[in-house]
Amino acid sequence: MGYFRDSKRIVVKVGTSTLTHSTGHLNLRRIEKLVKVLSDMKNWGVQVVLVSSGAVSAGVAKMGFGRIPSTPEEKQAMAAVGQSELMKIYDRFFSDYGHTVAQILMTKEVLSNPERRAAAENTFRRLLEMNCIPVVNENDSVSTDELTKFGGNDILSAYVAELCGADLLLNLSDIDGLYDSDPRTNPDAKLIDRVECIDDSIYAIAGGAGTDRGTGGMIAKLNAAKLVTEQGIPMFILNGHEPEILYTLLDGGHIGTYFTAKKESKHD
Ligand code: GLU
Repeated sequence: MGYFRDSKRIVVKVGTSTLTHSTGHLNLRRIEKLVKVLSDMKNWGVQVVLVSSGAVSAGVAKMGFGRIPSTPEEKQAMAAVGQSELMKIYDRFFSDYGHTVAQILMTKEVLSNPERRAAAENTFRRLLEMNCIPVVNENDSVSTDELTKFGGNDILSAYVAELCGADLLLNLSDIDGLYDSDPRTNPDAKLIDRVECIDDSIYAIAGGAGTDRGTGGMIAKLNAAKLVTEQGIPMFILNGHEPEILYTLLDGGHIGTYFTAKKESKHD
């Protein structure tokens, strides 16, 4: 049925602005809704990998810092605090729906080192065979430089989709998809349903950065879309504020912006 028809394995990326309130604290109501929908997707018969941001923001809020710290050490410490907070909540909510989560923290080195890459691939494969839901984030507490950092979970989710052989990547953001101009300044901006080719004209309309709590703007999402679609994996940008919209896709409908796969794909 629709985009999910031939999808056996789906990576869902969800951003900080979706998972947290403006205070930085976790938005429990929304996380619970998201977990319910993802649990239902799993019950429906697809394997789900969740790439979740929110660690730094949750850590900052929990420690009462009030703002994202400027030094890398403090930011890394906040990520360590927030990551365990995040996993505690995911574990509790997914357990309520009968599912088991497994935390995987990635660094970029994992991809460049063939042995570590193979180990990561095997771990994803085994976890999915065992019916677990891997919950992935960048290992912010130990990633500091160009070698280790992905530079945001949009791009991390694209690499994870490739690494675990996903059929589809869903990028849940705080915007409905890609617009033909900036909807924050142009009320007539139109949502683009489908993008066949991510060229300079698409980058030109993508605009600036996202929210102050996440790191990914539209450019980062386009970079992720370019990476996965070139590997034969289509991607959606969707608004994560109402996670139930994912049922529209599950029911065969269309929402958000769909980036078609470049190589042969089962979905076009
Ligand atoms: N890994 C970061 C976190 O968990 C988020 C990075 C991003 O928003 O792209 O806070």
